[in-house]
Amino acid sequence: MSTKGYAAATPKAALAPYSFQRRAPRDQDVSIDIKFCGICHSDIHQVRDEWGPSIFPMVPGHEIAGIVTAVGAKVSKFKVGDKVGVGCFVDSCRTCDSCRAGLEQYCTEHLVATYNGTEKDGTPTYGGYSEEIVVDEKYLLRMPENLLLDAAAPLLCAGITLYSPLKHWNAGPGKQVAVVGLGGLGHMGVKLAHALGADTTVLSQSNRKQDDAKRLGANHFCSTSDPATFTKLKGKFDLILNTVSAEMDWNEYMSLLKVDGSMVVVGLPEKQTPISAFSLITGRRSLAGSMIGGIPETQEMLDFCGKHNIVCDIELTPIQRVNEAYERILKSDVRYRFVIDMASLKSA
Ligand code: NAP
Ligand code: ZN
Ligand code: ZN
Repeated sequence: MSTKGYAAATPKAALAPYSFQRRAPRDQDVSIDIKFCGICHSDIHQVRDEWGPSIFPMVPGHEIAGIVTAVGAKVSKFKVGDKVGVGCFVDSCRTCDSCRAGLEQYCTEHLVATYNGTEKDGTPTYGGYSEEIVVDEKYLLRMPENLLLDAAAPLLCAGITLYSPLKHWNAGPGKQVAVVGLGGLGHMGVKLAHALGADTTVLSQSNRKQDDAKRLGANHFCSTSDPATFTKLKGKFDLILNTVSAEMDWNEYMSLLKVDGSMVVVGLPEKQTPISAFSLITGRRSLAGSMIGGIPETQEMLDFCGKHNIVCDIELTPIQRVNEAYERILKSDVRYRFVIDMASLKSA
């Protein structure tokens, strides 16, 4: 099947129209007409080749929402017309301990990333900045009926990336949770932590997003450019979710944890970050990381968002303006996630 999309031809290249082949649907496959695709900061990191060797041409996009157009003979969970979602991976080994536990994102053998990855037969994968995608039903998510598809699309990466650590580290009533960085991931962290009942603080570079943070559900807001913030909040948090995409001093943030508190890193800066042993031993603090979520937990998160009416705050963009959107994301100038309206690609 020939499909239209947008790709970066080489590392750091601007995205431009690109045609490529999708596989012919197999018996377990679902064919999806892509309606919307969120723009994650990870798309920018990978297009710019910041995480080591990437595969080009690259069609990014792993916050994919669309409608089922065809199902294979052995598909049992989905039918034509269903609202579905595809997140950051489209297959995995299915047999390792992680896969068997529904933690496919931590597959130790072969996680097939939605783009910038390879299928088990070595074919490169292409993501959601495109018209259609073909996915095995085991790796497909059901979108809640009551949520708008455009605003729900970023739940498939930004939503699950914050939901999973919030659940794993037991965020809820009586817990002090901080979200560092109010971007695509961070604003979902605030909405989800609030819905789970945690007392939620936003730590942002300036005061510009203060009103938004409160509107999104934060109980408190502090600017990290004010040095008093680090004295005032010392020892306050049970859990810090660090979503920052750039280099920063993690040691400063570790000092804001209570005894036995944890800072969970989800942001992925290009360079390595030094951490002092003293930041860990004082207060028996933990530094941890977390990556997206497995298929069962992603479905749980979508159902939770359906129940609580949680979607992302989005700015819809035609695909022709995707390069401009990247520049604005790098300046933290988006409230709070760009979503590509794929109708713009089809009409082009
Ligand atoms: P984003 O929308 O660009 O948000 C990042 C936020 O970090 C910005 O809004 C800004 O918040 C803050 N920030 C940016 N530069 C900073 C700096 N120099 N110092 C301090 N704060 C800074 O990006 P995103 O899509 O949310 O993604 C965030 C990071 O998570 C990226 O590195 C991405 O690759 C990674 N990611 C990880 C996973 C995972 O599974 N772990 C999944 C998806 C994405 P303020 O304006 O509020 O300061
Ligand atoms: Zn992402
Ligand atoms: Zn596996």
